[in-house]
Amino acid sequence: MAKAKRKTAKKAARKTVAKKAARKAPAPKKATRKVTAKKATRKPVAKKAAPKKATRKPVAKKAAPKKATRKPAAKKAAGKKVARKATVKKGKYVYFFGGGKADGGGTQKNLLGGKGANLAEMNRIGLPVPAGLTITTEVCSYYYDNGKKYPATLDAQIDANIAKIEKVMGKKFGDLKNPLLLSVRSGARESMPGMMDTILNLGINDQVVESLSDKTGNPKFAWDSYRRFLQMYGSVVMGVEAEAGEHHDPYEVILEKAKSNAGVQIDSELSEADLRWVVAEFKALIKKRSGSDFPEDPREQLMGSVNAVFNSWNNDRAKVYRQKYGIPAAWGTAVNVQAMVFGNTGTESGTGVAFTRDPATGENVFYGEYLIDAQGEDVVAGVRTPKQIAKLAKDLPKSHKELLEIRKVLEAHFKDVQDIEFTIEAGKLWMLQTRNGKRTGFAAVNIALDMVKEKLITKETAILRIPAEDLSQMLAPIFDSAAEKKATKVGAGLPAGPGAASGQIYFSAETAVAAAERGEKVILTRQETSPEDLRGMIAAEGILTTRGGASSHAALVARQMGKICVCGCHTMEIDYIAKTITGNGVTLNEGDFLSLNGFVGSVYAGEIKASPSQVIQGLIEGKARAQKGATYIKFIQLMKWADKIRTLDIRTNSDTPEQVETAVKFGAQGIGLTRTEHMFFEGDRIDAVREMILANTDEGKATALAKLLPYQKEDFTGIFKALDGRPATIRLLDPPLHEFIGTMTHQQIDELAGKLGVESSFIHGRINALHEENPMLGHRGCRLGIVYPEITKMQATAILEAAVEVKQSGTKVVPEIMVPLVSYAKEFQLQKEVIDAAAAEVRAKYGLKKTQLRYTVGTMMEIPRACLTADAVAEDAAFFSFGTNDLTQTCLGLSRDDSSSFLPAYQEAEVLDNNPFASLDQTGVGQLVEIGVEKGRKTNPKLKIGICGEHGGDPESVKFFHRTGLNYVSCSPYRIPVAKLAAAQAALEEQGMARGEVS
Ligand code: PEP
Ligand code: MG
Repeated sequence: MAKAKRKTAKKAARKTVAKKAARKAPAPKKATRKVTAKKATRKPVAKKAAPKKATRKPVAKKAAPKKATRKPAAKKAAGKKVARKATVKKGKYVYFFGGGKADGGGTQKNLLGGKGANLAEMNRIGLPVPAGLTITTEVCSYYYDNGKKYPATLDAQIDANIAKIEKVMGKKFGDLKNPLLLSVRSGARESMPGMMDTILNLGINDQVVESLSDKTGNPKFAWDSYRRFLQMYGSVVMGVEAEAGEHHDPYEVILEKAKSNAGVQIDSELSEADLRWVVAEFKALIKKRSGSDFPEDPREQLMGSVNAVFNSWNNDRAKVYRQKYGIPAAWGTAVNVQAMVFGNTGTESGTGVAFTRDPATGENVFYGEYLIDAQGEDVVAGVRTPKQIAKLAKDLPKSHKELLEIRKVLEAHFKDVQDIEFTIEAGKLWMLQTRNGKRTGFAAVNIALDMVKEKLITKETAILRIPAEDLSQMLAPIFDSAAEKKATKVGAGLPAGPGAASGQIYFSAETAVAAAERGEKVILTRQETSPEDLRGMIAAEGILTTRGGASSHAALVARQMGKICVCGCHTMEIDYIAKTITGNGVTLNEGDFLSLNGFVGSVYAGEIKASPSQVIQGLIEGKARAQKGATYIKFIQLMKWADKIRTLDIRTNSDTPEQVETAVKFGAQGIGLTRTEHMFFEGDRIDAVREMILANTDEGKATALAKLLPYQKEDFTGIFKALDGRPATIRLLDPPLHEFIGTMTHQQIDELAGKLGVESSFIHGRINALHEENPMLGHRGCRLGIVYPEITKMQATAILEAAVEVKQSGTKVVPEIMVPLVSYAKEFQLQKEVIDAAAAEVRAKYGLKKTQLRYTVGTMMEIPRACLTADAVAEDAAFFSFGTNDLTQTCLGLSRDDSSSFLPAYQEAEVLDNNPFASLDQTGVGQLVEIGVEKGRKTNPKLKIGICGEHGGDPESVKFFHRTGLNYVSCSPYRIPVAKLAAAQAALEEQGMARGEVS
């Protein structure tokens, strides 16, 4: 009894969450969630349930394109081992680049990492790149597989290649006359910005700093480089960082003290003497906290740094990032050791980052920022606010001109937007990195379509290059313009992530995560973000920073996650202690509402009403003005291309005529699933359903069913009309009967008892009798229809009568009746008999010949046994539709209702790459799908097969279904564009076209 109560309470709590999720869902997703609370609990946990976003989101969404070819974790690791052994024999662990030559090239990202491969490539195409070496990703794997040891020949290979660097750069590592300093950076196959460690200015010690000072005649620069090195080496390699309870970075505390002593504002104003003091303090700090002296030997410094970078592959934030983007741990990182060039030698020097086009909007403008007399980390960390790149034309005109040239060369060579890092050392420009730029969904579409126009890429490449999931950004709401005009503007910053977000402000990642878990919409509000804030950023709807530029960490990561972001909002001030943010005379406290317009960078106090995106306004609402918008036009163009290329049909999961109309506007080719039980929850219908369930005589049941029939018929009529001749797969009733009565309150029970003229105790008795411990595996689906064939008969009659009448009114109708939860062929046969008998009665009623009422009967494939015996099931079934929600549940033995409590831990422990209810477990559940298809088509080669689980809107799953030979996928209306694009990508991939790497 107590157990039952606990269960009920738990279930009720779940429902509340589900209800909240449905309420809080952004407009475009409503269609999928507009279900009753009951249904919501049965939906896959992770798709877009707002409140638990942080932990419940499928992790791999954005990394989608790689998943298709990826093996499951265990296999991957095993496969990798074999490959590793082969390479160990080959024994080349270190690749050189420099002086216009390179051992490797741009195609070797798996081995050299993205950074290493592109540094090699830039060398090859003659761009000015400081010489360096790349230690391969295989060494990383070896390191982890062999108790953090390296291959025996690695040291010698590093030495040999350092000699080459020395030759090209004309300097010597550790030399006291002309010292070469090095940078050590990570570089995974896919870029993971800011997630791993970097060490710059390596090779300095007490003697080298003096020689550097003499050689350059710039002691301030030499000592600045030394203090930077100590700061990085001390924290990254020697682990001297802020301790628990310490609010400020201890190095920054020393720097602040030096500035205050010197009476200056910024680091670059510190004198040589100040910097000497800082260096001494840093060394003392390191010694005190680590118990060891900082190593003076440059070679020891180098290996310490290489170890640190390899170790950082498994730091917490790198792991979180990998989970979010589905990057396998087995990939490992490469390490790039490169000659340092210095942007901090004075006013003729500087450093910057830039994109060859605007990564937020996609506009074809050179977009970036720089700092004079600084090193790269200063720009990215957002500590000093950089200048916009156009201003470089005035500060360092020669370098600016060169950069504009390089911008063209890079786009022409890589045929994609490049995200570059550069340094200008005493007037000489050096390229430190290029990679395909991360961009928002808007930018991805704009850039791809513009590049087709510019004949840089083909439309097939454009299709492959846009992450299908990102299309959902184009459907996201924007602020209602009238409401925005009225709102109180409290600040303006850089529009770093487009979209409109309102939410409650939180000032730390932890509080943001906690608030999101409580179901609040969160705006993470920080002075600047650091990689440690990643979890908070994932949890937030929007991100606001008061410092930092468009390439700050906040902007970069937000853009990539598709988060709405305004950064560098300097007019606003955050007080972390008081937990307030003030702007334009308005002070907001933690938990207050704030709104961000990430298209233009405006910040408002309070919540602002949002309105549909341009695409939705144009496509769904038919607004002429929106249809003239550039975004709308590009979206439509892209969809047209996708439609031409894809071979997989796209249907919709829709339960109402309105949903069907929306889906048809998005291009749905029919209904793949109508859940008829959803129709019973509206208005008074529930009473008739309850009456039917409670009836304990055949006559009583028949009376109740007769009341339901006209409701159902009316629904189907509306749906058939909205479909206008497209096929409609309508599924017979699925939920456990208990769902209709088990949730009734005492008051509802009393009221119903009154209406039905029975005692309340009778209803209580029926509720107890129907109660199931495990309703998901209980009396539902065809099991209901077998025990109560009159329900099936009523539904079939309603469907077919509606079909006849709509057809008679002049609209073609293609009814496909679907039997749920079949395990045995016999179950299907029994249900088909009932349906065929009902059809015969309908024909008789309307005086129709067989050919005048055509319909098909098929089955859901959502129980493993049905898949394993699909040859038998296909004897009578006209079609299959994989119900991958239940198939996942039953294959994995994971409850759809309950697994969300521990799935995040599974993802964290890397047992799972993804939430299997969001992205199909291709290795496991996928085999059942493959078997079902193979066996079904063996019996009936023309068997039509689709899928209607939530996976029908997940890009990687869509691709899998294409490869498995399905005829269609079915998804909620607002996922149709994503499914279309993924289907087109699958078709192109099948033709051997690879997705252009976007990392
Ligand atoms: C499924 O199980 O995949 C399915 C579509 O049915 P439901 O979600 O209604 O159980
Ligand atoms: Mg199901």
